[in-house]
Amino acid sequence: MPWEKNEAAGGETSGRDARIAARAREENWKKPPRRIESAECITCDSCLRGCPAEFGAIFDRGLDVVIIPELCSGCPACVLECPVDCIYVDEDWTPTDESLWKHIELTADGA
Ligand code: SF4
Ligand code: SF4
Repeated sequence: MPWEKNEAAGGETSGRDARIAARAREENWKKPPRRIESAECITCDSCLRGCPAEFGAIFDRGLDVVIIPELCSGCPACVLECPVDCIYVDEDWTPTDESLWKHIELTADGA
């Protein structure tokens, strides 16, 4: 996998770019991704700011804030930031749809 080489070299941002390109989670991530319950979320963006840059898994789409499971390691720094505790483990996550990947590609560093 190309991103394994990047991680070994300390290129964590490259790892995120590779995940975006592959649209896939790291195979060695043991924890499931997280998801935001939109009915409870107050769209404060605290989680977005708390998600480590090497993951950059959270996006504010205007009407809601979402976690991209393919980019989320499940670390879970965002959970500590959320004032309303609406970020849950998502064992049954589904692949991110094409339109959202297009948006992510437009905002990705160095993509
Ligand atoms: S669990 Fe970690 S990687 Fe996933 S969205 Fe939260 S802070 Fe980001
Ligand atoms: S920190 Fe919690 S309430 Fe704020 S945007 Fe993130 S999920 Fe929503």
